[in-house]
Amino acid sequence: MTSTTPIADSPKSRVLAERRRRFGLRRLVRWLLGPDTDTLKQQQLMLIVSGILFLWVSGLFNGLFGVTPLLLVGVYLAAIPVLICLWWQGRWRDKTRRATTISLIILALIVAPATWFLNAGSQGPTLILYLILVSYAVGVQSAENRWRVGLLALLLVSPIIWLMAELWAPHWIVPYPDTKTRIIDLIFSYSAGALLLSIVILGHVRRFSQELYKANVLSKRLTDMARKDSLTGLLNHKVIHQGVMAALALQRPFSLVMLDLDHFKKVNDRHGHLYGDTVLVQFALVLRACCEPSKGQVGRAGGEEFLAIIPGDDNAANAFLARLRSEWAICYLEHGAVTFSAGAASWVPGDSLNSLIQRADDALYGAKDAGRDRWVVAAASSATGL
Ligand code: GH3
Ligand code: MG
Ligand code: MG
Repeated sequence: MTSTTPIADSPKSRVLAERRRRFGLRRLVRWLLGPDTDTLKQQQLMLIVSGILFLWVSGLFNGLFGVTPLLLVGVYLAAIPVLICLWWQGRWRDKTRRATTISLIILALIVAPATWFLNAGSQGPTLILYLILVSYAVGVQSAENRWRVGLLALLLVSPIIWLMAELWAPHWIVPYPDTKTRIIDLIFSYSAGALLLSIVILGHVRRFSQELYKANVLSKRLTDMARKDSLTGLLNHKVIHQGVMAALALQRPFSLVMLDLDHFKKVNDRHGHLYGDTVLVQFALVLRACCEPSKGQVGRAGGEEFLAIIPGDDNAANAFLARLRSEWAICYLEHGAVTFSAGAASWVPGDSLNSLIQRADDALYGAKDAGRDRWVVAAASSATGL
């Protein structure tokens, strides 16, 4: 037989993974945008970071290719340090919401109008820029932000106002020097816009899948809380009663076993309630382990009383109780052994939840009356008790 090293574990891949961990893009992105646990903050910072990138790349492009007057390049370069300060405030001073809103205002009130008038108006790429800003403003601003509606309205209405202005005073617009420059600028702007839009959409998808994951985890926790006893983690009495109803519906032999710790009040009185709790938790653990081979269900009925549903006839219930007795006897308890008494009732046709509980309860009290530290299996009388 030949042994192969899994690819993911090979020394080379480990070195690569380590290198990626140290110098990787992921590390840089996390430094820029903060931890993955706060996806809204990450998206808000992403708006500022991509704004800085856009201004820097566009400024460089416009300056190098002479697409626009140098005034626009100046506006872009002046906005960059302001956005860097805002990113710093958002990333390290916990003022992300405010920083995002101010960034959006700068982009909407200064950068976008300057681009419109100095970069060919409706012939240029500013409509794309407005659409991207709208998509950021809708998705990234938190709902309670009072600037949100105003900013959104401003972003949505601005291009219409600028278009009207262009109709009314076309000489306010600085046109492209020639068609070739226009095509080059539109290709560049479209590519940058598509990239930024993809980043926004990916951010939304990531954020909502994380929110969904969190909601699923919480809903599972709530379902568990509704089904389980908080101290022992066993099923609560309501769920175990549902288990009995389900077993009754199957019309197959099973036993309902009721268990009660003996003289438990004394345990509490002597060693404290907290110690009593640890005994209950310990008993629940042994109970669950002993029930597993029987493929049954165990739950806490309340206080120091427990319930078990054991598939099979009397013999299965006896085997389960014998196993529990010997396992519980060897379980170490700080202040000595605590015994239990039990009563078991096996299903007979016509049984109901009440009749079974009644017979198991009577059997349990039979065990208590007989001196405790024992179990009694109820006689297989008819379910009507006749
Ligand atoms: P018996 O042998 O007849 O069952 O006597 P007992 O003392 O066990 O029964 P009793 O009903 O007199 O007392 C039950 C005690 O169980 C009283 C109560 O303080 C204790 N108990 C109930 N629930 C809890 C719990 O959640 N934690 C702790 N530590 N004790 C509990
Ligand atoms: Mg008791
Ligand atoms: Mg009791």
